Amino acid sequence: MIRNSNIFRLFLLLVSLGTSFFAQSANKLDSVRIWAAPESTRLVFDLSQSPDYSYFTLKNPDRLVVDLKKSSSKVDLGKIKNNSKLVKKVRKSTPPEKGTLRLVIDLNKPVKASLFALPPTAPYGNRLVVDLDSGGAKAKQPAISKPKATTKLRDVVIAIDAGHGGEDPGSIGPTGIYEKKLVLEISKKVAQKINATPGMRAVMTRTGDYFVNLNKRSEIARNSKADLLISIHADAFTSPQPRGASVWVLSMRRANSEIGRWLEQKEKHSELLGGAGEIIQNTDNEQYLAMTLLDMSMDRSMAISHNIAGDVLSNLGRVTKLHKHKPESASFAVLKSPDIPSILVETGFISNPKEERLLSQRDHQNNVANAIHKGVLKYFEQNPPVNSLLASKSSIEHKVRSGESLSVIAQRYQISVSKLKQANNLKSNSIRIGQKLIIPRA
Ligand SMILES: [Zn+2]
Repeated sequence: MIRNSNIFRLFLLLVSLGTSFFAQSANKLDSVRIWAAPESTRLVFDLSQSPDYSYFTLKNPDRLVVDLKKSSSKVDLGKIKNNSKLVKKVRKSTPPEKGTLRLVIDLNKPVKASLFALPPTAPYGNRLVVDLDSGGAKAKQPAISKPKATTKLRDVVIAIDAGHGGEDPGSIGPTGIYEKKLVLEISKKVAQKINATPGMRAVMTRTGDYFVNLNKRSEIARNSKADLLISIHADAFTSPQPRGASVWVLSMRRANSEIGRWLEQKEKHSELLGGAGEIIQNTDNEQYLAMTLLDMSMDRSMAISHNIAGDVLSNLGRVTKLHKHKPESASFAVLKSPDIPSILVETGFISNPKEERLLSQRDHQNNVANAIHKGVLKYFEQNPPVNSLLASKSSIEHKVRSGESLSVIAQRYQISVSKLKQANNLKSNSIRIGQKLIIPRA
């Protein structure tokens, strides 16, 4: 009896060892996320372990087949959220061998696929990233407008960079609001205001909830010949107390404030989260390179950046608390486009419960966007680039839009209502939609 039960126990032990051994060797697909960008789509497979994978494409119809060795899945693939124009659906298929998980991505057109695995980066674990690019459309940057036939004068182009996106939520507020969402909302408002300003045009580095790596962000700005890049963020700190907006410019040295160092670290973490596939270097070596190669244009860009940062900051100070009253500097990679003046606006601290609430309110977002727009407009009106429409005009024309009053327009261009009335020979304060007003230079 005793012997038998011992053998039985041994048997149980072997069985449990066996199953736990198998459980550890088998990779599990835990979830699938699909992030759609205008011309590309990223699929992310969350896995319990680093994947052993292979893939190939098939035609008629277009498919991408991904084999994950020693893997299984309990994900209901029919229930994945999918707003991609490239991906029809993801499904399981008969594997070439037992134990392999074969996933088929049904496509709407041929794509260029690149796959890479990412190590765990909090809050994510092991990931297999599948980047699908439809190409073609890339050559045509919608951002670049056709030159006008009648005149060579150009618009001042402002690249607006909503931080984070897709896999990278950015900071997360105490009630769970994502920075990537707030900053996209604010960025869109800034873009609208820029586009409504004669002589100015906005280009956005992202227009939806997808990740764009730092190189790509400055590439978009450069391709559209941007005069300025504004990166928009809402930050968080380890404690809930810090609050207020701040404006940052590039420094060749490491940040000397605690929050500055924290932000630099977070930028690196963001790239890892978003899955840039490469880590930003911040070595002395790189700084040396930057210093030697970029001297003149960098100096010029940095001087301009400082000026604009000051104008934006003073306008922000009228609508929100300021964290610091002077532009601060840190070594952010997103600001490192030597040829393009760049600023980074922290619209507030999402980790501060009060500011988290404020930043998600439409009115406040509007105020912040207005302040950014005003600061930028002030700078470029006073320092219009040669060949720009702004430089050519001693005055600007403004077409009255719904909801605008004389005082709103006067405020936008930072002139007095009486000056505005005088320039337009207005006897009363009433204006109509579509009316064209001359805005005298401040
Ligand atoms: Zn951020």
